[in-house]
Amino acid sequence: MRLSRYFLPVLKETPHDAQIVSHRLMLRAGMIKQQAAGIYSWLPLGFKVLKNIEKIVHEEQIRAGHHPMLMPTLQPADLWQESGRYDAYGPEMLRVRDRHDRDMLYGPTNEEMITDIFRGHVTSYRDLPLTLYHIQWKFRDEIRPRFGVMRGREFFMKDGYNFDLDKNAAIHAYNRHMVSYLKTYERMGLQAIPMRADSGPIGGDDTHEFLVLADTGESEVFYDSAITDLKLGSRTVNYDDWDECAAIAQEFTTPYARTDETHDAAVFNRIPEARRKTSRGIEVGQIFYFGTKYSEPMGATVQGADGKPVPVHMGSHGIGVSRLAGAIIEASHDDNGIIWPEEVAPFRVGIVNVKQGDPTTDTACEDIYAALTAAGIETLYDDREERAGAKFATMDLIGLPWRVTVGPRGLKSGVVELTNRRSGEAEELAPDALVSRLS
Ligand code: ATP
Ligand code: MG
Repeated sequence: MRLSRYFLPVLKETPHDAQIVSHRLMLRAGMIKQQAAGIYSWLPLGFKVLKNIEKIVHEEQIRAGHHPMLMPTLQPADLWQESGRYDAYGPEMLRVRDRHDRDMLYGPTNEEMITDIFRGHVTSYRDLPLTLYHIQWKFRDEIRPRFGVMRGREFFMKDGYNFDLDKNAAIHAYNRHMVSYLKTYERMGLQAIPMRADSGPIGGDDTHEFLVLADTGESEVFYDSAITDLKLGSRTVNYDDWDECAAIAQEFTTPYARTDETHDAAVFNRIPEARRKTSRGIEVGQIFYFGTKYSEPMGATVQGADGKPVPVHMGSHGIGVSRLAGAIIEASHDDNGIIWPEEVAPFRVGIVNVKQGDPTTDTACEDIYAALTAAGIETLYDDREERAGAKFATMDLIGLPWRVTVGPRGLKSGVVELTNRRSGEAEELAPDALVSRLS
């Protein structure tokens, strides 16, 4: 992409109404624009990041054997009357009425709808296990929308639902989700710690939230620092193996890690003092096992092996896809701007032409841009008539992992400079060595 033709409305001034760094940086980098309280447009750069996050979520869900689908944003109220949540949900639910005076709502989550789909099509235990998910916009009329996309009213969320024959199978689904979530966050360059949590309006007995440690997080968290050493890394997981998933879930939930809602000071104080940590955290996901809470009232049963109907055991699982864009920035930035982890970066490389209009430099930039693009490396070429300093500032602000600096002085000795955004380390190399260096 040539920056001269792109739509990147960066702000020079720091927006003062934005209280946290990720919100400020998303506005300054031209990623989002607020349209109403808690409702945002995703401008081209932000949209690319959102899509990259979504893609990782899809890939890891599909790897775990879960099926993507898409449910609508608007739902009929009667499904929610059946489960009893239409009244229970309260003012967070955005209720609308259509021209025929039918009550509708903008979905805050989809347990009812998925249960309805299930009961309409699945009849036998032979069709289980089944996990369906979608990534769709949600609306919750939050009392205090704030921090940009971190606590929006309209937000993008992955929500998945598992259907299993009995509790043991549903617990495997729970563990499988835990592992796939750990993998998902790691790919985004994040450490998200599973913490025992309270179940809230979704209900159920077993639930963990995934929290990214950050000073600006809304939750207070207590943990044993030993947990921060745990990583899945390059381990490959067989998601059909109950024992393997259970062992990983066990490993990652053994060190103490809880939010203030479930914190137990007596247990916490038994951890050696040096490892006892209190911090703030951003909730980027949550998994639930809730048994037959929806299947029973809504008649989601299958015929068991003995021919008798049994209500299915369910769980639900959510990842805050749009919140993650902010959470990643909270976890990865410096004074100059964002530092994108490779897999979510909107472009991998930025080319800075320090002497726009100089024929040799322009030609070298064009050649590099063409070569990187041909190699499938997403590149943003800053070809604007701007001072070099302004170009560097923009690149630092938008946080692409690599910057190629091209100027007449280097070209005279046959080199350009390649700089890593995170480490700041720079190396000189011949322009035609770039593709292999970055592949
Ligand atoms: P919170 O406690 O932050 O209000 P929640 O527990 O109500 O969130 P869940 O129902 O667990 O949210 O939704 C799954 C995920 O969706 C959350 O872990 C979070 O990452 C994201 N999410 C929830 N509410 C919002 C929101 N208002 N804006 C952006 N993301 C959200
Ligand atoms: Mg939650």
